[in-house]
Amino acid sequence: MPKGVRINMSKIPVGILGATGMVGQRFIALLKDHPWFEVVCVAASPRSAGKPYEQAVAEKWLMEEKIPDAVSKLIVLAVEEDAKKIASQVKLVFSALDLEKEQIRKIENSFASLGIPVVSNNSAHRFTEDVPMIIPEINSEHLEIIEIQKRNHGWEKGFIVVKPNCSIQSFVPQVTALMSFNPQKIEVTTFQAVSGAGKTLESWPEMNDNVIPFIGGEEEKTEKEPLKIWGKLKDRTIELAKKPTISATCIRVPVSNGHLASVAVSFANKPTREQILGAWKNFNPLRKLNLPSAPSPFITVFDEENRPQTGLDRNLGNGMGISVGRLRDDIILDYKFVGLSHNTIRGAAGGAILTAELLKMKGYL
Ligand code: NAP
Repeated sequence: MPKGVRINMSKIPVGILGATGMVGQRFIALLKDHPWFEVVCVAASPRSAGKPYEQAVAEKWLMEEKIPDAVSKLIVLAVEEDAKKIASQVKLVFSALDLEKEQIRKIENSFASLGIPVVSNNSAHRFTEDVPMIIPEINSEHLEIIEIQKRNHGWEKGFIVVKPNCSIQSFVPQVTALMSFNPQKIEVTTFQAVSGAGKTLESWPEMNDNVIPFIGGEEEKTEKEPLKIWGKLKDRTIELAKKPTISATCIRVPVSNGHLASVAVSFANKPTREQILGAWKNFNPLRKLNLPSAPSPFITVFDEENRPQTGLDRNLGNGMGISVGRLRDDIILDYKFVGLSHNTIRGAAGGAILTAELLKMKGYL
């Protein structure tokens, strides 16, 4: 810990693994002045290790606000070589690493085995049987599998929780609000921002005046991950939901932040338009918990024909709100709509912070 850095003892000390990347930076920006968590440790690859954070990110810092003073002078540690040192300083790590999946599993397991809860953005553990994949408003009951995970590994305090891919937050909340009508099929096309690839419009000139109709691995994640989110805890595992079946097309568009989704859905019990709008407006399962990062409303419903728009609406609820509009009949399935979420806030760092808040509120930290 460098001289002059003061730790607020009333807050939970946290570390960021992958602190120098796009999502890592977002964690640092969002955790500035967080009422429960304080960033006391930043870690990245050996390329960045040993440097003060402000020097390690230098011209790579991409957030709108400047690097928080409390973090800028922290010396970056190496995620693997300094694991024990990191574990001695924190009570939780957020993982925003981008490297081989096998290596990420190894790193995240090693922090859990050192007694540190891990909340991860990476896909490496999303389909590990005893690891819950959480959208706090939707499947908080899946956290119960943490006790089984700890027993499976002999971990006393540490455990791993992951969040899903950024693409699914633009339509899964809206469909979840309609679960009582038994959705059967979903056709979704996502229009995804360049920050989802860890890039900016400046650093990716090929995206200028261009649309790329392919994002590696994204369609598989968009079709499969919601089935774990909607799954049921059963016999020491999470049984994947069988319905609705999802067909996805994922497209990269020249937008800085915000993933938009065009969605068509069919139901076993077709709701009326009024029932859908009412269900969306009233869907806010976290309302009573008062978690610091939980948006209210969770879902903002637009009547205007030209909303939601990425530029206008991605920052609703400080980037944690989901929006929806253009609800209309579909002549092939039953209804169609357009959804939107902020990919690096709700879809990445903000979603992980909300998950950590839920973990604290439920006594897991
Ligand atoms: P990124 O900008 O490329 O950052 C990657 C981070 O990983 C950097 O801090 C980098 O450190 C670190 N790293 C790379 N190799 C390492 C190594 N060998 N040992 C230790 N650290 C290493 O990636 P990103 O866009 O922030 O994404 C991070 C993760 O979040 C990925 O798993 C991604 O799939 C996921 N995610 C991203 C989004 C999004 O919208 N961007 C949304 C949801 C989930 P150095 O700077 O030292 O190289």
